[in-house]
Amino acid sequence: MLSQSVRHFVYRQFAETGTPPELTDLTTHLNISIEEAQTALVELAENRHLVLNEKSEILMAHPFSAVPLGFSVMGEKTLWWGGCSWDSFALPNLVNQEVVIATTCPNCNCAHAWRVNPDTAPLGDQIAHFLVPTNQMWADVVFTCGNQRIFCNEDCLDEWLVKTNNLKGYVMNLSTLWKLSSNWYEGRLDFNYQRRDPSTAVQYFREVGLSGAFWGL
Ligand SMILES: [Zn+2]
Ligand SMILES: [Zn+2]
Repeated sequence: MLSQSVRHFVYRQFAETGTPPELTDLTTHLNISIEEAQTALVELAENRHLVLNEKSEILMAHPFSAVPLGFSVMGEKTLWWGGCSWDSFALPNLVNQEVVIATTCPNCNCAHAWRVNPDTAPLGDQIAHFLVPTNQMWADVVFTCGNQRIFCNEDCLDEWLVKTNNLKGYVMNLSTLWKLSSNWYEGRLDFNYQRRDPSTAVQYFREVGLSGAFWGL
């Protein structure tokens, strides 16, 4: 399957370099035509393996992002845009190394950073806020990821909700965020990766300690 090879190449490239491949990288490395590469990218986007922008360029391959969404993730040799808080905290496991994750509080702009590794939950009393329930996240996935941020505390979140005229979404502490993120993207760098079906996803959310509001119940 050509789309499987393209998916695998995109993910490996993102993991190793922090950026997605250009179309010409795909044609050169996989020995395919521009049309074949474009068709494979569209098919992968339809199946939610990738997110493309209006020019059909790769915007996201969760948990990787080609654009800033509030987080940076610094590895030993690679710098990634971390996507949302969920995506950023997933990177240490996926790339199997300790990283430094940095962000700012959307309310007060205060800077926060954590060393995060695959084995232990990070310390910190900040909170993660997920504005959109996961069963609606693909309606506008860039908006959804852009609104899965970390705030200093409940006061900062409440002030931000009033300022932005938003209703409170799902709130979790950093330890739960880390648990949610840890194995969520497991296998995504492998050639034969299969996406979770919705019922397995809900089971995973329950196991890491999230309640129904997280996935829209
Ligand atoms: Zn704050
Ligand atoms: Zn995300």
